[in-house]
Parts: sequence; C-alpha cells; structure tokens
Amino acid sequence: MRIALIKGDGIGVDVAEAALAVVEAALGKVGQQAPACDEINAGAGYFSETGLDIESDSEARIDAADAVFLGAIGLPSIRHANGTEISPHLRLRDAFGLYAGVRPVKAYPNAPQRLADPRAASIDLVILRESTEGLFYSAATHNRSLVVTDDEVQDVLRITRSTTTKLHTFAFNLARKRRERGRPGTLTCVDKANVFTSLAFFRQLFDEVKDGFPDVPVGYNYVDAQALDLVRKPWDFDVLVTENMFGDILSDLAGGLVGGMGMAACAEIGDSTGLFQPAHGSAPDIMGEDKANPLAAILSGALMLDYLSEKLDQPELGDAADVINMAVEAGFQDNALRPMEFGGDMGTRAVTNQILSQIEEKRPLRASLGA
Ligand code: ATP
Repeated sequence: MRIALIKGDGIGVDVAEAALAVVEAALGKVGQQAPACDEINAGAGYFSETGLDIESDSEARIDAADAVFLGAIGLPSIRHANGTEISPHLRLRDAFGLYAGVRPVKAYPNAPQRLADPRAASIDLVILRESTEGLFYSAATHNRSLVVTDDEVQDVLRITRSTTTKLHTFAFNLARKRRERGRPGTLTCVDKANVFTSLAFFRQLFDEVKDGFPDVPVGYNYVDAQALDLVRKPWDFDVLVTENMFGDILSDLAGGLVGGMGMAACAEIGDSTGLFQPAHGSAPDIMGEDKANPLAAILSGALMLDYLSEKLDQPELGDAADVINMAVEAGFQDNALRPMEFGGDMGTRAVTNQILSQIEEKRPLRASLGA
C-alpha cells in the first residue's frame, strides 16, 4: 500500500503525523504492514521557500499512490501576489476529479453536545458534498468569475450530468452500505430545486439514479429547511447529498453540533484515487503549541483504510479502520480522551498516545464498548 503524504502547514504537520502513526498501529493490530509513504512538500511554508505551492512532480507521484493523506495547507500570512491563499488542494481536487466529499458527523459520549435534547447523543450522519463544481466552479483559484464591469461580478453555479450522476450513485451506495452496518441508510437530496434550474437538474439526476436503488429510502429537503432541520432534529438524518457550496456550509454547521473542527473528518473520492484530510485548516492561532485535536485527522485515516479496503479488495484494511473507530469510541466512552479543544487536559501528543495505547491493549476493543 502506497500513500502520498502531504503534511502541509501549521497543525497540519502534527495531526498528519498523529494519523499516520495510528493507521500504522491499526494495521499492525490486524497483521498488516505499514504503508509506504511518499512525502510531498506543499503549502504556504514551501511556497515561501521555493515560489511553488506544491512539488512540480506531485501529480505523477499521486498517480503512483493508492491514496493521498493531507494534513492542512495555507497560512494567512503567506499569500499569492493577488491576495489569494496558497491552496494547491483545490487544483488536486480538479486534476483528480475528487467529486465526492464525504463528511461524517457523529456524536461521541462525553464529547461536547451543543443541543440540549437527549437525542443529540445519537447524531450519526454523513454529508456528501460535491467537491469539483457547483458554486465552487467559480472559486478564485480557477479564475472563472465574470467581472462584468467595475460595479458587477458574476459567479457561475455549474451542475453537470456526468459528475452529478456519479455523485448520486456514490450517495446511494453509501446509504446502502450504512444500512448493512446497522444505520437507517436513508438518503436525503438537499437542493434549492424550487428556485434554480441548475438545482432542479441536480434533483432530476437524483431521481434518475434512484430508480436503480429501490431498496434505499429517500427524502428531499431545500437547503434552507435543511439548515433548520440540522439544528431541530439532526438525529432524523443519515446520508445527505448536496451541491458544493451548500455542503461546505452545512458540514461546518453539523460539525459544530458534535464538538468542533477537531472532530471533522473528511474524504474526497474520485474515480482513480481518494484524498483524506481533516476538514479543518492549519489553525495558525495554536500551531506549535501541542494543543490541536488530532482526532479529525485520525478518523480521516480510518476513512482512508475503509476506502483502500474496497479499492484494493483487502477486507483486513476495513478491519483496521474499525479498530481506529472503536478506539475513538471507547476512548470517549471511558472518558480517557479529553482533548484541549473541548476544555480537557490532553494535547495532540497525549490524545494520539491514548489512541495508540487503546489500540495496543490486549483486551478486545469491543469489550469496553459493552458490545
Ligand atoms: P481553512 O480556511 O483553511 O479551513 P480556517 O482559517 O477557516 O481554515 P481553521 O484553521 O480550521 O480555520 O481554524 C478555525 C478555528 O478552529 C481556529 O480557532 C483553530 O484554532 C480551531 N481549530 C481548527 N482545527 C483544530 C483542531 N484540530 N484542534 C483544535 N482547534 C482547532
């Protein structure tokens, strides 16, 4: 197994190292070797030294790897001459067609819950965010905004049949897979089909794909109502599929319901590869202080193993993903995980070491879950 590793900037470096150590331990636990890592230099720090935001042969090296793991990229103090932030990541999304942005949102015992309703303890959903087009088609790095006059700028929201059909197919398969794992496996199409032709098309394509998955229960929600429902009754949802910008906003909102950015894992999947990263940035306000919560990166490592299990047809890698997920669950259950992000006493290293010792313990991990 070969991983292209981009640690990036700020806390990205620390949490990527933490995640890789945990991935390696989990693989060891199920009798598998550590992955070979090809470390690619990228980010704001690299840009300030070299004038490049990522090594020039990076795409070929990513092609040669089975997956990419990324810490975080960008520092507000280092920018391109036009003021935009250093973000080779957006180009990688485009180059590798990483259309399916997977953002799990799960409540853990003893982790902060922002809603008083006791049902908030059961929040466990996935927001599937299209990640290559939608309103981000016009993102500044692509230079596609239409500057009409000095007084008007237009950005395009692009929905294509090919990408959206792949996205919806991914969503239905994910819902089905979650039902096999004991979740409700319902799928909600989130759009604004009542106002925008592009998003009516998004829904039309959803309905076309739906016909091939009669076993998956579906629902529909306009994005404004979905924002309300994510606060009012997030426990009622399992998989949500949506346009790029809507997904960007809703996934931060949903992440806030179960803690904060330090818990927000993320996968970006395309046809040939997947990129795995915590959804947070480089957090310059806490970098170098051993304060960052590495769990978003560690849970992204589990998403990567799950993906590789299917891609390489190696079920043991899926077992290794389960080992990580159960270690996090058990750690919170036993109150052994107390990240500083939530007012606890454990920094990046302490949280990582706790997960590593949880994985290395002789007793079966399920025992501490009472399962
Ligand atoms: P980007 O635009 O690259 O996503 P950002 O500037 O929006 O980045 P982050 O770098 O994610 O934001 O940081 C937002 C806030 O969340 C900061 O206060 C940061 O310290 C905090 N934060 C982010 N990630 C973590 C983490 N893993 N552990 C603790 N706090 C974090």
